[in-house]
Amino acid sequence: MISSSTLGLLARACPHALTLQEDGAPYPRDHFAAGTAAHVVLEEVTILGQGATLTDDDRSRAAARVVAELSTVGRSFRGDPQPPLPLDAALEGADLALDWLRSDDAWLPSEGAHVEGQLEVGEDWTPGGPVWYGGLIDLLYWTEGAEGEGVLVVRDYKTAWPHTGGILESAQLRGYALLALAHAERLYPDRDVDVIRREVVNLRRQETYHVDLPVDSWALGEWRDQLDAMIRAIPRRERRTPNPGPRCGGCSYVLACEHRPPEVADLEGTARRMLALRAEAGALEATLREATRDSLLSVDGSTLGYQPGSRSTPSDEAVEALSELYRVPEDESTRTLLRHLLTAGGVSKALRAALKGQPRERRAALEERCLTGAPYRTWGWRDRTPE
Ligand code: SF4
Repeated sequence: MISSSTLGLLARACPHALTLQEDGAPYPRDHFAAGTAAHVVLEEVTILGQGATLTDDDRSRAAARVVAELSTVGRSFRGDPQPPLPLDAALEGADLALDWLRSDDAWLPSEGAHVEGQLEVGEDWTPGGPVWYGGLIDLLYWTEGAEGEGVLVVRDYKTAWPHTGGILESAQLRGYALLALAHAERLYPDRDVDVIRREVVNLRRQETYHVDLPVDSWALGEWRDQLDAMIRAIPRRERRTPNPGPRCGGCSYVLACEHRPPEVADLEGTARRMLALRAEAGALEATLREATRDSLLSVDGSTLGYQPGSRSTPSDEAVEALSELYRVPEDESTRTLLRHLLTAGGVSKALRAALKGQPRERRAALEERCLTGAPYRTWGWRDRTPE
């Protein structure tokens, strides 16, 4: 069976990591300990909250029990007993979960939640038979949409800072959506499902991102084909080549990998080296900035110095035009505030939102009125334009 996490590992690391995973190579659990603890706390709180109203104290006590268990006896994952987590990391994870639960962003279903459920399908993408693809979904629930439509939601909790809305289109999230749909009738026999929602909650950022897709969308068939192709393309053991490079830094099996580059073997040393190189680069830059005040320096086909360009800024007309479009009252203090807050990017976004569905030419004409180009120089390298 290939799982969502296997495809995720291939995307994050390299094919050799898969071999290490199959061989049961150790991976730095401590590195993921806070995230693991946060997941377990949310799992516990969601289960306790089915058909019950929990107070803040109930949640804190549940989190304390999870921390105590994780840091003393550990937990099992997919039937494998896991060693205990470091206490401080377990506490950090519990804090992440509780802080998010107290935030305005938080919402948990009070009924029908399926937590940390392993879902599997056969090669025809229906449940049963030899397993072809599977995944462990943090939270699956059904809700009613704004128009009364049935929405099936797959939620994934993330604890890494960089994970934002972009991850909604990852193979992992698409795979979860397909698995959830394959099991929808079994899990929610009395519910209609019109829309499948992929939802990512970043606990550190306290932000939730989601995207909806009607269940009759052509995209779902395309995703199945893509995942089938990815699963079939996973090389056999003897053909998996290691691919050491920057991705080794985020590879779960870096400690066990004999091909890891020296930079990841000594992260503190690498960070120190980076600091030293940055300091040296800063000193060199000061000299080169002075030397290129009037003209560009040509080096091996690239140029260094004050590169010409142009930068958009809101024009004098921008406030008037946007106020008209958004029916902002004609009071001077509001206009002054707008004038100070407006940025070129903000003007473009505001025009896009207000003129959604209208001819593109209208937006372009207004953008031309609202933005003005100013000559601008930015110091740095530029590759020579190919001839
Ligand atoms: S450490 Fe690098 S080379 Fe080794 S398995 Fe991970 S990504 Fe591949």
